[in-house]
Amino acid sequence: MKILFVTSEAAPLIKTGGLADVSGALPPALREIGLDCRLLMPGYPAVLEKLGTAVVVAHFAGMPGGIEARLLLSTLPKSDTPLYVLDAPQAYVRQGGPYQDAAGQDYVDNALRFALLSHAAALLASPGSPLEWRPDLLHCNDWQTGLAPAYLNFLGRPIPSVTTVHNLAYQGIFPPMAMLQLGLPAESFSIEGLEYYGNVSYLKAGLYYSDRITTVSPSYAGEIQLEPLGMGMQGLLSTRRADLRGILNGIDTGDWNPSSDLHLPGEYSMRAPSGKKRCKQKLQEEMGLGQEADAPLFGVIARMTHQKGLDLVLAVADGIVHRGGQLVMLGTGDKLIEQAVRDTAARHPGRVACMIGYDEGLSHRIEAGADSFLMPSRFEPCGLNQMYSLRYGTPPIVHATGGLRDTVEDGVTGFVFQEPTPHALWLAVERAMDLFAQKPAWKKMMLAGMHRDFSWENSAKAYQALYEEIIGRQ
Ligand code: ADP
Repeated sequence: MKILFVTSEAAPLIKTGGLADVSGALPPALREIGLDCRLLMPGYPAVLEKLGTAVVVAHFAGMPGGIEARLLLSTLPKSDTPLYVLDAPQAYVRQGGPYQDAAGQDYVDNALRFALLSHAAALLASPGSPLEWRPDLLHCNDWQTGLAPAYLNFLGRPIPSVTTVHNLAYQGIFPPMAMLQLGLPAESFSIEGLEYYGNVSYLKAGLYYSDRITTVSPSYAGEIQLEPLGMGMQGLLSTRRADLRGILNGIDTGDWNPSSDLHLPGEYSMRAPSGKKRCKQKLQEEMGLGQEADAPLFGVIARMTHQKGLDLVLAVADGIVHRGGQLVMLGTGDKLIEQAVRDTAARHPGRVACMIGYDEGLSHRIEAGADSFLMPSRFEPCGLNQMYSLRYGTPPIVHATGGLRDTVEDGVTGFVFQEPTPHALWLAVERAMDLFAQKPAWKKMMLAGMHRDFSWENSAKAYQALYEEIIGRQ
């Protein structure tokens, strides 16, 4: 089975969010299980600089906006996954990130830049492709590739397409004038198409014209069919519910392995879990917390945004301290939240500690050194930290939403609470502290989480099954 996976970012080449992690991990995992999956992405400077050998395999003319482009073929670093790079300097060679300039402003021509990527994807998926290699299915991701299924539709749907929603909050909405340069028929600008309240929505194009839609957890697939998590797309998503599926992301089990993690002061595993004690002691030392082996230590690692529920954590911080616990928080984001986190730590020296910033090594040491991980996100399409926690024997406490609901089993591998309120979180924290005091029961929970398998291989098999189903149905 040949799959063209088109994306606007892929780790380790360029990353602004979870989409890059999935794009960097899923195609290689699909190849591991025997699929011929290839990537297509834009030639931003960061990508061109990091490419190994690249050869020009095609030239494109007649693209949206009259832009000319070359297609380069290389491989995704550290893998054998073929990578097609759309080299169009006029569109992609900029100072700044993939979507915004250095001042954080969206590029004014984003509509054209991502129409170009989508158009190239559709061409490679059609009989007019300049390549000999022809995919059986086109896999699109988020709004940046939303127009590809629309182009494919008006090319007569030569192959089926799937659109994966990684973040429904970004919808690629542009004024109707954008239609002028897309090269799509005027009839597509309608409710039965890519029109969204008088504007053009690239995400809606993907959701409307794709054969199937996926998102990154089964629970989130249900939640986005309703308000408020549908973020305006709930009507279309519920109409298409028979074609909508949630497939959990995997985690990098090489980078996140407590028995070989170079960021840790001690190794441990299911068979030999005692190294975790040393990780806790060293984390307490590093963060200026009291050296108390028996104090339940709670960890938090998060972008400090309303979504992640840091306010709920801060609301239970005093209670944790009064019951003899400790709390360590790592993150960066909203300045008001950062300040509130700092203030809470300042009120409880030696019991609550924080580090405001992005620190990969510390994030590993918190996952390993904490006893339990707090993740009270208001919504969470998939979430990674709760899966790292399970793998590191650090039972997570999570709100029953999206991927958190799908990965943590209440009372077995962690604690799940129903409402994103301080009271509900506090009751879950109390349950955790009670269990923590019963060492054999706590150990049983730790080991149950460490046994769970969140490797990409599982996700890749689920995508493979979906592709087979779609292609078989054609
Ligand atoms: P989201 O993608 O919504 O931010 P996830 O839990 O899916 O949330 O993934 C977040 C990833 O970013 C995790 O790998 C987490 O460890 C990492 N991370 C977030 N904030 C920090 C930070 N301040 N320092 C180090 N890693 C961080």
